[in-house]
Amino acid sequence: MTAVVIDGNAIAQEIRAEATQAAADLQARSGVAPGLAVVLVGDDPASAVYVRNKERACREAGIRAETLNLPGDTSQNEIIAAVRRLNDDPAVHGILVQLPLPSHVDERSVILSLDPDKDVDGLHPVNVGRLVQGEPLFVPCTPWGIQEMLVRSGHSPEGKHVVVCGRSDIVGKPVAMLLVQKQTGANATLTMCHTGTADLAAVTRTADILVVAIGRAEAVTADMVSEGAVVIDVGINRVDDATRQRGYRLVGDVDYRGVSEKAAAITPVPGGVGPMTVAMLLKNTLRAAERAIAGAGV
Ligand code: NAP
Repeated sequence: MTAVVIDGNAIAQEIRAEATQAAADLQARSGVAPGLAVVLVGDDPASAVYVRNKERACREAGIRAETLNLPGDTSQNEIIAAVRRLNDDPAVHGILVQLPLPSHVDERSVILSLDPDKDVDGLHPVNVGRLVQGEPLFVPCTPWGIQEMLVRSGHSPEGKHVVVCGRSDIVGKPVAMLLVQKQTGANATLTMCHTGTADLAAVTRTADILVVAIGRAEAVTADMVSEGAVVIDVGINRVDDATRQRGYRLVGDVDYRGVSEKAAAITPVPGGVGPMTVAMLLKNTLRAAERAIAGAGV
């Protein structure tokens, strides 16, 4: 079997077009342009690229985007003070703190300082709790992108056995919580794996849909996947490559070539989950703006 490629760029483009239309409608209706503020601390090159992509996508969709660039040695209290100022700014509807933060900063404290009504990354405990209880306000962008990708490519998780590898707060846990809900586009049977899983391959081979978010380059190999599975590769890893001008290439957590021979469908890296994450950020920012205009609160 040779897997069908699930084209994240194409699906994300579809969603971005929907967001562009929604932003124009909102502006025509209310006179308000939706606004996103990104907080970027330090000069991590990968984070800078992600932030630039998010800014560009916002502008193309008619969403105002401003990035607050703070030096890498900014104290935790100063970062929290900056977030609070954005919380209080009525022109800012959504706030995204680009992770990871420098090691001297407790990410949890910064996330706790976000207004849950502006938390477009869905990481504040209020939003996590709402997701768990099946009444999400802002679903984290990457998990939501994975769900949209599955549904829009004709691989709805409903009734399927989904195995999620990885239990981070950003990807693994929320994607599992999202797909297990008793809702259309979800309703899956869920298994989660992590470094404490005794026999990872034995579990991943039982998956109808395998979501891999472990941050280990090409770690999931063909022998770990059953014939006909749908494979979503969330990983983004840099591996040295002297043949490339920049000296590296990006690979996922899945051995794409080997697994493509067995899976029914697979997401590429790049061009898979990455663009979906950006597209869902636009949707969440619009939701935040619509709620602010309607005067809704958590
Ligand atoms: P993370 O915080 O490092 O978490 C990794 C998770 O994988 C942990 O739960 C860890 O288990 C588990 N794990 C690690 N090695 C494992 C192994 N050999 N077997 C089973 N489980 C293992 O990573 P993350 O933030 O979720 O990110 C995962 C990957 O997705 C990274 O490559 C990241 O760059 C990428 N990512 C992509 C996007 C996107 O938009 N495409 C967004 C976010 C992240 P323990 O809990 O037991 O340590």
